[in-house]
Amino acid sequence: MKQTADVIVVGGGVIGGAVAFELARRSVDVLLLDKSLPGRATSASAGGLWPVGEAVGLGCGIIHHQSRAASDGISSELVLPTVFRDFLIRSNECFPKLAEELKEISAVDIEYESEGNGLFFLYFNEDEQRFVETIASGLPGGSKFKMLDANEVKQLEPQLTDDLLGAAVLANEHQLNPMYLAEGFKRAAIALGAQFRHNTLVTGLCREADRVVGVQVGDQVLTCNTVVNAAGAWAGNLAAAAGLRVPVFPVRGQIVLTQSLPHTLSACLSTSGCYMLQKKHGEVLIGSTTENTGFDVSVTAEAITQLCRAAVQTVPILRNVGIKRVWSGLRPGTQDELPILGPMENVTGYVNAAGGFRTGIVAAPLTGRVLAQAIVGETPDVAIDPFLANRFQRSTAAFA
Ligand SMILES: Cc1cc2nc3c(=O)[nH]c(=O)nc-3n(C[C@H](O)[C@H](O)[C@H](O)COP(=O)(O)OP(=O)(O)OC[C@H]3O[C@@H](n4cnc5c(N)ncnc54)[C@H](O)[C@@H]3O)c2cc1C
Repeated sequence: MKQTADVIVVGGGVIGGAVAFELARRSVDVLLLDKSLPGRATSASAGGLWPVGEAVGLGCGIIHHQSRAASDGISSELVLPTVFRDFLIRSNECFPKLAEELKEISAVDIEYESEGNGLFFLYFNEDEQRFVETIASGLPGGSKFKMLDANEVKQLEPQLTDDLLGAAVLANEHQLNPMYLAEGFKRAAIALGAQFRHNTLVTGLCREADRVVGVQVGDQVLTCNTVVNAAGAWAGNLAAAAGLRVPVFPVRGQIVLTQSLPHTLSACLSTSGCYMLQKKHGEVLIGSTTENTGFDVSVTAEAITQLCRAAVQTVPILRNVGIKRVWSGLRPGTQDELPILGPMENVTGYVNAAGGFRTGIVAAPLTGRVLAQAIVGETPDVAIDPFLANRFQRSTAAFA
Protein backbone atom coordinates (compact mmCIF):
# COMPACT_ATOMS: atom_id res chain seq x y z
CA MET A 1 0.00 0.00 0.00
CA LYS A 2 1.31 3.49 -0.81
CA GLN A 3 2.10 5.47 2.30
CA THR A 4 0.30 8.71 3.03
CA ALA A 5 3.57 10.45 3.95
CA ASP A 6 7.05 9.61 5.16
CA VAL A 7 6.44 11.41 8.48
CA ILE A 8 3.11 12.33 10.08
CA VAL A 9 3.24 15.00 12.79
CA VAL A 10 0.24 15.03 15.12
CA GLY A 11 -0.40 18.47 16.63
CA GLY A 12 -0.12 21.85 14.94
CA GLY A 13 1.06 23.94 17.89
CA VAL A 14 4.46 25.56 18.02
CA ILE A 15 6.26 22.24 18.55
CA GLY A 16 4.55 20.29 15.77
CA GLY A 17 4.99 23.29 13.48
CA ALA A 18 8.71 23.54 14.27
CA VAL A 19 9.25 19.82 13.61
CA ALA A 20 7.30 19.97 10.31
CA PHE A 21 9.29 23.05 9.20
CA GLU A 22 12.65 21.44 9.95
CA LEU A 23 11.62 18.21 8.21
CA ALA A 24 10.30 20.05 5.15
CA ARG A 25 13.51 22.01 4.78
CA ARG A 26 15.29 18.64 4.71
CA SER A 27 13.01 17.62 1.83
CA VAL A 28 11.13 15.05 3.92
CA ASP A 29 7.58 14.21 2.78
CA VAL A 30 5.73 15.41 5.90
CA LEU A 31 2.04 15.67 6.78
CA LEU A 32 0.97 17.86 9.71
CA LEU A 33 -2.41 17.05 11.29
CA ASP A 34 -4.18 19.29 13.78
CA LYS A 35 -7.51 19.62 15.49
CA SER A 36 -7.76 22.82 17.55
CA LEU A 37 -8.79 21.63 21.01
CA PRO A 38 -9.89 24.06 23.75
CA GLY A 39 -6.86 24.95 25.87
CA ARG A 40 -4.16 24.35 23.27
CA ALA A 41 -1.09 25.96 24.75
CA THR A 42 0.60 27.93 22.00
CA SER A 43 -2.23 30.36 21.40
CA ALA A 44 -2.64 30.82 25.18
CA SER A 45 1.02 31.54 25.79
CA ALA A 46 2.65 34.80 26.90
CA GLY A 47 5.45 34.57 24.35
CA GLY A 48 8.24 35.17 26.87
CA LEU A 49 11.71 34.08 25.71
CA TRP A 50 13.32 33.63 29.10
CA PRO A 51 15.76 30.72 28.82
CA VAL A 52 17.82 31.48 31.90
CA GLY A 53 14.96 33.13 33.77
CA GLU A 54 12.68 30.11 33.51
CA ALA A 55 15.54 27.63 33.99
CA VAL A 56 16.41 29.21 37.33
CA GLY A 57 12.78 29.33 38.38
CA LEU A 58 11.70 32.91 37.66
CA GLY A 59 8.83 33.93 35.37
CA CYS A 60 6.23 31.23 35.55
CA GLY A 61 8.58 29.02 37.53
CA ILE A 62 8.38 30.89 40.80
CA ILE A 63 4.58 31.01 40.62
CA HIS A 64 4.49 27.29 39.82
CA HIS A 65 6.74 26.32 42.70
CA GLN A 66 4.89 28.51 45.15
CA SER A 67 1.60 26.92 44.17
CA ARG A 68 3.07 23.42 44.59
CA ALA A 69 4.54 24.29 47.96
CA ALA A 70 1.20 25.69 49.11
CA SER A 71 -0.84 22.74 47.90
CA ASP A 72 1.18 19.72 48.95
CA GLY A 73 4.04 20.98 51.07
CA ILE A 74 6.72 19.83 48.60
CA SER A 75 9.91 21.76 49.13
CA SER A 76 10.85 22.13 45.48
CA GLU A 77 14.19 22.82 43.91
CA LEU A 78 13.54 25.69 41.53
CA VAL A 79 16.61 25.44 39.35
CA LEU A 80 16.28 23.08 36.38
CA PRO A 81 19.26 20.96 35.24
CA THR A 82 22.09 22.74 33.41
CA VAL A 83 21.63 20.52 30.37
CA PHE A 84 18.14 21.95 29.90
CA ARG A 85 19.17 25.54 30.65
CA ASP A 86 21.85 25.22 27.96
CA PHE A 87 19.28 23.75 25.56
CA LEU A 88 17.00 26.75 26.14
CA ILE A 89 19.83 29.27 25.75
CA ARG A 90 20.85 27.69 22.47
CA SER A 91 17.28 27.61 21.26
CA ASN A 92 16.81 31.27 22.19
CA GLU A 93 19.88 32.16 20.14
CA CYS A 94 18.07 30.86 17.03
CA PHE A 95 15.39 33.58 17.08
CA PRO A 96 17.07 36.52 15.30
CA LYS A 97 17.86 34.39 12.23
CA LEU A 98 14.64 32.39 12.47
CA ALA A 99 12.53 35.57 12.52
CA GLU A 100 14.13 36.64 9.23
CA GLU A 101 13.81 33.18 7.65
CA LEU A 102 10.16 32.78 8.55
CA LYS A 103 9.38 36.24 7.21
CA GLU A 104 11.13 35.45 3.97
CA ILE A 105 9.62 31.99 3.47
CA SER A 106 6.14 32.46 4.94
CA ALA A 107 5.65 36.25 5.05
CA VAL A 108 4.76 35.93 8.76
CA ASP A 109 6.31 38.47 11.14
CA ILE A 110 6.69 36.71 14.50
CA GLU A 111 7.03 40.09 16.28
CA TYR A 112 10.35 39.13 17.80
CA GLU A 113 11.36 41.99 20.09
CA SER A 114 14.96 42.22 21.22
CA GLU A 115 15.18 45.93 21.98
CA GLY A 116 13.63 45.89 25.47
CA ASN A 117 15.40 46.03 28.82
CA GLY A 118 15.37 42.22 29.20
CA LEU A 119 13.75 40.26 32.02
CA PHE A 120 13.61 41.90 35.46
CA PHE A 121 12.92 39.86 38.58
CA LEU A 122 11.61 42.48 41.00
CA TYR A 123 12.18 41.92 44.69
CA PHE A 124 10.17 43.59 47.40
CA ASN A 125 11.88 42.27 50.56
CA GLU A 126 15.17 40.86 51.78
CA ASP A 127 14.02 37.24 51.54
CA GLU A 128 13.35 37.67 47.83
CA GLN A 129 16.68 39.48 47.42
CA ARG A 130 18.55 36.60 49.08
CA PHE A 131 16.67 34.16 46.85
CA VAL A 132 17.96 35.81 43.65
CA GLU A 133 21.46 36.26 45.08
CA THR A 134 21.62 32.53 45.78
CA ILE A 135 20.49 31.74 42.25
CA ALA A 136 22.96 34.24 40.78
CA SER A 137 25.88 32.66 42.61
CA GLY A 138 25.13 29.35 40.84
CA LEU A 139 25.08 30.79 37.33
CA PRO A 140 27.99 30.65 34.87
CA GLY A 141 29.74 33.99 34.18
CA GLY A 142 28.07 34.88 30.87
CA SER A 143 24.51 34.66 32.13
CA LYS A 144 24.88 36.30 35.54
CA PHE A 145 22.16 38.62 36.72
CA LYS A 146 22.93 42.28 36.89
CA MET A 147 21.58 43.49 40.26
CA LEU A 148 20.01 46.96 40.31
CA ASP A 149 18.89 48.98 43.33
CA ALA A 150 15.44 50.60 43.42
CA ASN A 151 16.64 53.94 41.97
CA GLU A 152 18.36 52.27 39.05
CA VAL A 153 15.29 50.15 38.32
CA LYS A 154 12.99 53.18 38.40
CA GLN A 155 15.21 55.07 35.98
CA LEU A 156 14.77 52.27 33.45
CA GLU A 157 11.13 51.51 34.25
CA PRO A 158 9.51 54.69 35.68
CA GLN A 159 6.03 53.14 36.01
CA LEU A 160 7.13 50.65 38.68
CA THR A 161 6.05 51.06 42.29
CA ASP A 162 8.24 52.86 44.84
CA ASP A 163 7.88 49.84 47.14
CA LEU A 164 10.61 47.90 45.34
CA LEU A 165 13.90 46.98 46.89
CA GLY A 166 15.59 46.23 43.56
CA ALA A 167 15.74 43.92 40.58
CA ALA A 168 17.84 41.16 39.08
CA VAL A 169 18.19 41.70 35.34
CA LEU A 170 18.73 39.18 32.55
CA ALA A 171 19.46 41.48 29.62
CA ASN A 172 19.05 38.96 26.76
CA GLU A 173 15.59 37.64 27.64
CA HIS A 174 12.86 39.07 25.42
CA GLN A 175 9.52 38.16 23.82
CA LEU A 176 7.58 37.48 20.61
CA ASN A 177 4.05 36.69 19.45
CA PRO A 178 3.61 32.93 20.04
CA MET A 179 0.63 32.53 17.68
CA TYR A 180 2.57 34.10 14.84
CA LEU A 181 5.55 31.85 15.62
CA ALA A 182 3.38 28.74 15.23
CA GLU A 183 1.73 30.18 12.12
CA GLY A 184 5.12 31.09 10.65
CA PHE A 185 6.47 27.56 11.18
CA LYS A 186 3.35 26.02 9.65
CA ARG A 187 3.19 28.27 6.61
CA ALA A 188 6.94 27.95 6.01
CA ALA A 189 6.65 24.16 6.20
CA ILE A 190 3.84 24.27 3.62
CA ALA A 191 5.87 26.58 1.39
CA LEU A 192 8.70 24.03 1.53
CA GLY A 193 6.42 21.16 0.50
CA ALA A 194 4.72 19.92 3.70
CA GLN A 195 1.04 18.97 3.62
CA PHE A 196 -1.27 20.31 6.32
CA ARG A 197 -4.75 19.14 7.31
CA HIS A 198 -6.55 21.25 9.88
CA ASN A 199 -9.67 20.21 11.76
CA THR A 200 -8.38 16.62 11.72
CA LEU A 201 -8.57 14.74 15.00
CA VAL A 202 -6.19 11.78 15.27
CA THR A 203 -8.19 9.17 17.13
CA GLY A 204 -5.47 6.55 17.51
CA LEU A 205 -2.06 5.29 16.48
CA CYS A 206 -1.78 2.18 14.30
CA ARG A 207 0.67 -0.30 15.73
CA GLU A 208 1.88 -3.59 14.26
CA ALA A 209 3.85 -5.52 16.89
CA ASP A 210 6.77 -3.24 17.83
CA ARG A 211 6.24 -0.71 15.06
CA VAL A 212 3.94 2.29 14.80
CA VAL A 213 2.85 2.34 11.14
CA GLY A 214 0.42 5.23 10.96
CA VAL A 215 -2.45 7.10 12.56
CA GLN A 216 -6.17 6.61 12.71
CA VAL A 217 -8.46 9.50 11.74
CA GLY A 218 -11.97 8.25 12.38
CA ASP A 219 -12.35 5.22 10.11
CA GLN A 220 -9.41 6.26 7.93
CA VAL A 221 -5.86 4.93 8.35
CA LEU A 222 -2.98 7.21 7.28
CA THR A 223 0.26 5.25 6.96
CA CYS A 224 3.83 6.50 7.33
CA ASN A 225 7.34 5.53 8.41
CA THR A 226 7.38 7.76 11.48
CA VAL A 227 4.68 9.35 13.65
CA VAL A 228 5.71 12.40 15.68
CA ASN A 229 3.60 12.97 18.78
CA ALA A 230 3.36 16.77 19.20
CA ALA A 231 -0.13 16.71 20.70
CA GLY A 232 0.65 19.10 23.58
CA ALA A 233 -1.24 18.38 26.79
CA TRP A 234 -2.98 15.48 24.97
CA ALA A 235 0.29 13.70 24.07
CA GLY A 236 -0.07 11.18 26.89
CA ASN A 237 -3.57 10.17 25.71
CA LEU A 238 -2.40 9.77 22.12
CA ALA A 239 0.58 7.62 23.14
CA ALA A 240 -1.59 5.51 25.44
CA ALA A 241 -3.70 4.58 22.41
CA ALA A 242 -0.67 2.60 21.19
CA GLY A 243 0.16 1.22 24.62
CA LEU A 244 2.98 3.76 25.16
CA ARG A 245 3.52 5.58 28.43
CA VAL A 246 4.32 9.27 27.92
CA PRO A 247 3.64 10.99 31.26
CA VAL A 248 2.41 14.40 30.14
CA PHE A 249 -0.37 16.13 32.04
CA PRO A 250 -2.23 19.44 31.57
CA VAL A 251 -1.18 22.39 33.75
CA ARG A 252 -3.67 25.23 33.44
CA GLY A 253 -2.44 28.79 33.10
CA GLN A 254 -4.80 31.77 33.32
CA ILE A 255 -3.90 35.10 31.74
CA VAL A 256 -5.21 38.68 31.77
CA LEU A 257 -4.74 41.11 28.88
CA THR A 258 -5.33 44.82 29.36
CA GLN A 259 -6.56 47.19 26.70
CA SER A 260 -3.87 48.82 24.55
CA LEU A 261 -1.81 51.38 26.44
CA PRO A 262 0.80 53.91 25.40
CA HIS A 263 4.37 52.78 26.05
CA THR A 264 4.42 51.64 29.69
CA LEU A 265 7.03 48.87 30.09
CA SER A 266 10.30 48.18 28.29
CA ALA A 267 11.27 45.11 30.28
CA CYS A 268 9.48 41.82 30.83
CA LEU A 269 8.72 41.76 34.58
CA SER A 270 8.68 38.78 36.92
CA THR A 271 7.57 38.89 40.56
CA SER A 272 6.56 36.17 42.95
CA GLY A 273 2.88 37.01 42.23
CA CYS A 274 2.75 37.46 38.46
CA TYR A 275 4.74 38.26 35.35
CA MET A 276 4.03 41.08 32.92
CA LEU A 277 4.94 41.97 29.35
CA GLN A 278 3.73 44.83 27.20
CA LYS A 279 2.95 43.33 23.81
CA LYS A 280 3.76 44.95 20.49
CA HIS A 281 0.30 46.49 20.05
CA GLY A 282 0.28 48.05 23.52
CA GLU A 283 -1.65 45.55 25.66
CA VAL A 284 -0.07 44.49 28.96
CA LEU A 285 -0.23 40.73 29.44
CA ILE A 286 -0.41 39.56 33.06
CA GLY A 287 0.28 35.88 33.71
CA SER A 288 -0.10 33.26 34.95
CA THR A 289 -1.42 30.63 37.29
CA THR A 290 -0.15 27.04 37.26
CA GLU A 291 -2.98 24.72 38.26
CA ASN A 292 -3.52 20.99 38.14
CA THR A 293 -7.18 21.03 37.16
CA GLY A 294 -7.09 18.43 34.41
CA PHE A 295 -8.49 19.50 31.04
CA ASP A 296 -10.75 22.16 32.60
CA VAL A 297 -10.13 25.42 30.73
CA SER A 298 -12.34 27.65 32.89
CA VAL A 299 -11.19 31.10 33.92
CA THR A 300 -11.82 31.77 37.60
CA ALA A 301 -12.58 35.03 39.40
CA GLU A 302 -10.15 34.21 42.20
CA ALA A 303 -7.17 33.64 39.91
CA ILE A 304 -7.84 36.69 37.78
CA THR A 305 -8.25 38.84 40.90
CA GLN A 306 -4.93 37.60 42.31
CA LEU A 307 -3.07 38.25 39.08
CA CYS A 308 -4.54 41.76 38.77
CA ARG A 309 -3.70 42.53 42.41
CA ALA A 310 -0.08 41.49 41.95
CA ALA A 311 0.13 43.52 38.72
CA VAL A 312 -1.30 46.70 40.29
CA GLN A 313 1.04 46.33 43.26
CA THR A 314 3.95 46.32 40.80
CA VAL A 315 2.73 48.86 38.21
CA PRO A 316 0.23 51.13 40.03
CA ILE A 317 -1.10 52.89 36.90
CA LEU A 318 -2.71 49.60 35.88
CA ARG A 319 -5.28 50.13 38.65
CA ASN A 320 -7.79 51.89 36.38
CA VAL A 321 -6.95 50.27 33.10
CA GLY A 322 -9.59 48.25 31.25
CA ILE A 323 -9.33 44.48 30.78
CA LYS A 324 -9.60 43.44 27.15
CA ARG A 325 -9.59 39.66 27.53
CA VAL A 326 -8.93 36.81 29.96
CA TRP A 327 -8.20 33.23 28.96
CA SER A 328 -6.59 30.00 30.01
CA GLY A 329 -4.44 27.37 28.33
CA LEU A 330 -3.07 23.93 29.14
CA ARG A 331 0.70 23.56 29.35
CA PRO A 332 1.96 20.09 28.49
CA GLY A 333 3.40 19.42 31.95
CA THR A 334 5.93 16.82 33.06
CA GLN A 335 6.93 15.87 36.57
CA ASP A 336 10.57 16.97 36.23
CA GLU A 337 9.65 20.01 34.10
CA LEU A 338 11.79 18.82 31.17
CA PRO A 339 10.38 17.98 27.74
CA ILE A 340 9.95 14.41 26.49
CA LEU A 341 11.74 14.11 23.15
CA GLY A 342 12.85 11.40 20.76
CA PRO A 343 12.12 7.72 20.21
CA MET A 344 10.97 5.19 22.80
CA GLU A 345 12.43 1.87 23.77
CA ASN A 346 10.96 -1.27 22.19
CA VAL A 347 8.97 0.54 19.51
CA THR A 348 10.02 1.92 16.13
CA GLY A 349 8.30 4.44 13.87
CA TYR A 350 7.39 6.71 16.77
CA VAL A 351 8.99 9.94 18.13
CA ASN A 352 7.95 12.16 21.03
CA ALA A 353 7.88 15.95 20.68
CA ALA A 354 6.05 16.49 23.94
CA GLY A 355 6.13 18.06 27.38
CA GLY A 356 7.06 21.64 26.45
CA PHE A 357 5.53 22.72 29.78
CA ARG A 358 6.30 26.38 30.55
CA THR A 359 9.16 26.83 28.06
CA GLY A 360 7.77 25.34 24.85
CA ILE A 361 7.89 28.62 22.94
CA VAL A 362 11.53 29.40 23.65
CA ALA A 363 12.48 25.73 23.18
CA ALA A 364 10.64 25.33 19.85
CA PRO A 365 13.38 26.20 17.33
CA LEU A 366 15.95 23.77 18.74
CA THR A 367 13.33 21.12 19.52
CA GLY A 368 12.22 21.15 15.88
CA ARG A 369 15.77 21.02 14.62
CA VAL A 370 17.13 18.20 16.80
CA LEU A 371 14.08 16.01 16.26
CA ALA A 372 14.21 16.49 12.48
CA GLN A 373 17.92 15.70 12.56
CA ALA A 374 17.28 12.51 14.57
CA ILE A 375 14.49 11.44 12.20
CA VAL A 376 16.57 11.82 9.03
CA GLY A 377 19.62 10.20 10.61
CA GLU A 378 21.77 13.30 11.12
CA THR A 379 23.58 13.75 14.44
CA PRO A 380 21.44 16.19 16.45
CA ASP A 381 23.16 19.50 17.23
CA VAL A 382 22.35 18.85 20.88
CA ALA A 383 22.03 15.34 22.36
CA ILE A 384 18.43 14.38 23.11
CA ASP A 385 19.32 11.57 25.53
CA PRO A 386 18.53 13.58 28.70
CA PHE A 387 15.02 14.13 27.38
CA LEU A 388 14.08 10.57 26.38
CA ALA A 389 10.88 9.12 27.86
CA ASN A 390 12.79 6.20 29.38
CA ARG A 391 14.03 8.45 32.20
CA PHE A 392 10.64 7.88 33.82
CA GLN A 393 11.12 4.12 33.89
CA ARG A 394 14.17 4.69 36.08
CA SER A 395 12.08 6.54 38.68
CA THR A 396 8.68 4.90 38.49
CA ALA A 397 7.76 5.80 42.06
CA ALA A 398 7.31 9.45 41.17
CA PHE A 399 4.88 8.70 38.36
CA ALA A 400 2.76 5.90 39.73
C1 LIG B 1 -0.76 30.51 30.01
C2 LIG B 1 0.51 30.01 29.37
C3 LIG B 1 1.61 30.85 29.26
C4 LIG B 1 2.80 30.37 28.68
N1 LIG B 1 3.85 31.24 28.53
C5 LIG B 1 5.00 30.79 27.96
C6 LIG B 1 6.08 31.67 27.73
O1 LIG B 1 6.01 32.87 28.04
N2 LIG B 1 7.20 31.19 27.15
C7 LIG B 1 7.33 29.87 26.76
O2 LIG B 1 8.39 29.48 26.27
N3 LIG B 1 6.30 29.01 26.96
C8 LIG B 1 5.15 29.44 27.53
N4 LIG B 1 4.10 28.59 27.73
C9 LIG B 1 4.27 27.19 27.36
C10 LIG B 1 4.06 26.97 25.88
O3 LIG B 1 2.94 27.69 25.44
C11 LIG B 1 3.90 25.48 25.60
O4 LIG B 1 4.97 24.74 26.15
C12 LIG B 1 3.87 25.22 24.09
O5 LIG B 1 2.94 26.07 23.45
C13 LIG B 1 3.53 23.77 23.82
O6 LIG B 1 3.35 23.64 22.43
P1 LIG B 1 2.79 22.29 21.81
O7 LIG B 1 2.85 22.47 20.34
O8 LIG B 1 3.49 21.14 22.44
O9 LIG B 1 1.29 22.20 22.35
P2 LIG B 1 -0.03 22.95 21.81
O10 LIG B 1 0.25 24.36 21.47
O11 LIG B 1 -1.10 22.67 22.80
O12 LIG B 1 -0.32 22.21 20.45
C14 LIG B 1 -0.81 20.89 20.40
C15 LIG B 1 -1.82 20.84 19.27
O13 LIG B 1 -2.20 19.50 19.06
C16 LIG B 1 -3.62 19.46 18.93
N5 LIG B 1 -4.02 18.09 19.23
C17 LIG B 1 -4.01 17.44 20.42
N6 LIG B 1 -4.41 16.17 20.28
C18 LIG B 1 -4.68 16.01 18.97
C19 LIG B 1 -5.15 14.90 18.20
N7 LIG B 1 -5.40 13.73 18.77
N8 LIG B 1 -5.33 15.06 16.87
C20 LIG B 1 -5.06 16.26 16.27
N9 LIG B 1 -4.63 17.33 16.95
C21 LIG B 1 -4.44 17.21 18.28
C22 LIG B 1 -4.10 20.51 19.91
O14 LIG B 1 -5.41 20.94 19.71
C23 LIG B 1 -3.09 21.62 19.61
O15 LIG B 1 -3.52 22.38 18.49
C24 LIG B 1 2.88 29.03 28.25
C25 LIG B 1 1.77 28.21 28.33
C26 LIG B 1 0.59 28.69 28.89
C27 LIG B 1 -0.63 27.79 28.94
